[in-house]
Amino acid sequence: MIDTHAHLTALDDPEGAIARAREAGVTRILTVGTDLDDCRNALALAEKHEGVSAILGIHPHNAGNAADADLAELRELLAHPKAVAVGETGLDWFRDYAPRGPQKWLFAAQLELAAELGKPVVIHTRAADEDTLATLSGYEGVAVLHCFSSPHLLPTALERGWYVSFAGNATFPKAVDLRLAAAQVPADRILAETDSPYLAPQPVRGERNEPAYVTHTFAALSNARGEEPADLERQIDTNASACFGV
Ligand SMILES: [Zn+2]
Repeated sequence: MIDTHAHLTALDDPEGAIARAREAGVTRILTVGTDLDDCRNALALAEKHEGVSAILGIHPHNAGNAADADLAELRELLAHPKAVAVGETGLDWFRDYAPRGPQKWLFAAQLELAAELGKPVVIHTRAADEDTLATLSGYEGVAVLHCFSSPHLLPTALERGWYVSFAGNATFPKAVDLRLAAAQVPADRILAETDSPYLAPQPVRGERNEPAYVTHTFAALSNARGEEPADLERQIDTNASACFGV
């Protein structure tokens, strides 16, 4: 299995989490950097561990201080062979940790960077779906809607051929709409992730999430889709390889 979105650098013991993931059958992890320092740390983990690759970007929460020089440095970091995607990037009008203007600028700039480098882009959208879609309207590259939580975006996502990645919140009892959405995603467009250390799935809800727990999300997804767990695991492995080149 693969966890396509974890923040290993935000865990107390990333090495232990990687080992526990392996024991649980999660042999590949994509770890996400959220600012330049975090991206360097993510790359260091990816260099050290064979099954770990890195997604590098500046998170919308960190948009407030981002400047052109940061993008130039991000471009350099993305040249690393284990840097597989740009992100996460997008718009967050829910937390509003950064002003909207800089978030929009940074999102557009990272989309350009992804297009220039021919890498997929990993999208974070929260309470900003219409603006996120508007910004993505001219983007022709590969995109992943990470921690998919907006079922009304599904028709557009499928029409645009974007990957749809489900996290631990799809396992919550009340998340019937997310499981219905998961059942509608074509086999070659579905992904699974933890977004650890956040959003631990149902059986371990409230705990600190880690990549091993993506197994619970896989179980909920295969159940929702009426598929054999082993078939879905194989399919998502294939999809992740196609999307991220891992
Ligand atoms: Zn994330």
